[in-house]
Amino acid sequence: MASNAEIAALANKVLVSNYRQAPISLARGKNAEVWDADGRRFIDMYAGIAVSTLGHAHPRLTKAIADQAAAILHTTNLVYNEQAVRLAERLVNLTKPSPNSPPVLSRAFFCNSGTEAIEACVKLARRHAFLRGEAKRTRFLSFQQSFHGRSMGALPLTGTPKYWEGFGCDVERVTHCTYGDLSGVAIALDTKPNEYCAIVVEPVQGEGGVLPAPPGFLAGLRKLADQHGALLIIDEVQTGIARTGKWFGFQHDNVDPDAIALAKGLGGGVPIGAMLIREALNAVLTPGSHGSTFGGNPLATGAALAVLDAVEAEHLVERSITLGAHLGKRLTEVAARHPSLFDGERGLGLLRGLIMKPGVEARMMLLAARNQGVLLSVASERVLRFTPPLNITESLLDEAVSLVDQAAASIAAPAPESTLPTG
Ligand SMILES: *Cc1c(COP(=O)(O)O)cnc(C)c1O
Repeated sequence: MASNAEIAALANKVLVSNYRQAPISLARGKNAEVWDADGRRFIDMYAGIAVSTLGHAHPRLTKAIADQAAAILHTTNLVYNEQAVRLAERLVNLTKPSPNSPPVLSRAFFCNSGTEAIEACVKLARRHAFLRGEAKRTRFLSFQQSFHGRSMGALPLTGTPKYWEGFGCDVERVTHCTYGDLSGVAIALDTKPNEYCAIVVEPVQGEGGVLPAPPGFLAGLRKLADQHGALLIIDEVQTGIARTGKWFGFQHDNVDPDAIALAKGLGGGVPIGAMLIREALNAVLTPGSHGSTFGGNPLATGAALAVLDAVEAEHLVERSITLGAHLGKRLTEVAARHPSLFDGERGLGLLRGLIMKPGVEARMMLLAARNQGVLLSVASERVLRFTPPLNITESLLDEAVSLVDQAAASIAAPAPESTLPTG
């Protein structure tokens, strides 16, 4: 087997250089432990950016994938496959506010990524307005620092201008409001009446810095969307599938969205995306108006079914709450011990972040943690993000936090007065 260095050298010649990649090649894993090509062990506290819901090599998921591969991998959407239909049924049932009420969202469309799920939502909103004869309703409202993907349909919604540069994407038809500020949204909607087809929002801004919506924000958006004839689309790509301590992030605010986008944690590492919609919107995407070759294939949907089974059987929604609270408490202690580096912590469930002091780069902490054997990701340059597998053992979680504490100690030597930023 090739070494980390050999793999990195080859990668630098043959991969498009659009990523800033660590010189590490991960070869195998178990629960929240992973080993690289040189045999070095790390604790995986990012889980493929909130993807590996069940950690690595989970027996139930591994078996479902192997069994499905042995039966049939791909069928096309010209026919049905039972896995996709069962997954749709399971997902819509998870949107029931209580066991006896009807599901909020009753239909599923499957695709292969978060971006594609958002793309489907964008097309849904545009065509919904079009079919109502409202040709001028083409504008979207999203939020500054939001992340909704990088395709030409999703990119304008993403509220980070550096991602737009040079792509000629149509940001003119999107208004980016301040996250958490309902009055700003109301003003934007009032300023261009009958122009907005949808509001698109994350329950917790993930890439934007692990920023949970203030309580009541999503419910307030629901009211405003209704008053202005716009759809409310909730991007659950990072927050969905128990990550925040509920099946879906919108359930913290008890709102009824018109559509949600899912991906990351849904397949536990097998690529899959989904859009769930209200029954009333089912007439919008008629045959031929949207589709995907791979979307809903039995390998991906079979894997997602196994993820949902394991989340239920292992009580991972509850675990996301309890372990998330534990992680939050431990990270608050780390932040308090290194006040020159951190401004505290925030998050919901097992989507959490250590906030860096202004002027301290999160990447520096990321590298120090990696040197200690902990894999983390950075959100918005200012936040060190923790998205461990939902089934991470408590001892691995505690070990990881201790190593992050040591990493902080290794770089927290107080800066001399003269190097502090002035003015
Ligand atoms: C990651 C992410 C996306 C994009 O998903 P991809 O699978 O990378 O296309 C969209 N929205 C949110 C909130 C995300 O976190």
